[in-house]
Amino acid sequence: MIDQIIEFNKQFVAEKAYEQYITDKYPNKKLAVLSCMDTRLTELLPAALGLKNGDAKIIKNAGGLVISPFDSAIRSLIVAIYELGVEEIMVVAHSNCGACHMSFDHFHHEMIARGVTDETIDTIRKCGIDLDAWLEGFKDTPTSVRKTVETIKNHPLVPKDIIVRSFIIDSVTGALEEQ
Ligand code: ZN
Repeated sequence: MIDQIIEFNKQFVAEKAYEQYITDKYPNKKLAVLSCMDTRLTELLPAALGLKNGDAKIIKNAGGLVISPFDSAIRSLIVAIYELGVEEIMVVAHSNCGACHMSFDHFHHEMIARGVTDETIDTIRKCGIDLDAWLEGFKDTPTSVRKTVETIKNHPLVPKDIIVRSFIIDSVTGALEEQ
């Protein structure tokens, strides 16, 4: 598949298809969106929010979550605020998210089947990594998205004038519901 993508890319550049996307690194709408990596949202999320190239910093991970106050999602938001002029943040969870009801037990079986050993898992645990917390999903989407918003709002490095709001988007219709 990657080879096919490389071929496509040569054509894309040769045809100057990039011209319609040219912009700069500063988000025109001074907006950051934290959302899920779900493939249903790849085009649906920006389309349903009316966002074009250059409008917003879009940060994605499994579940659209902040799992700890100094994780990669918060780091990206801090950069977006201080370096790129972001003033408003939308945290957008979605219906039927794959990260809902995830658990390490499920991954554990898959990992063993794919060649990871229990010894490796024990070593990681002995290093102080809480694998259960790291790979745990959320039980309830509205509670989870509001918790992520609270973590961002109460973060000691996030300025108090930053607006942070929580939403759930319908994975089919793109309908946005504030939480
Ligand atoms: Zn998801």
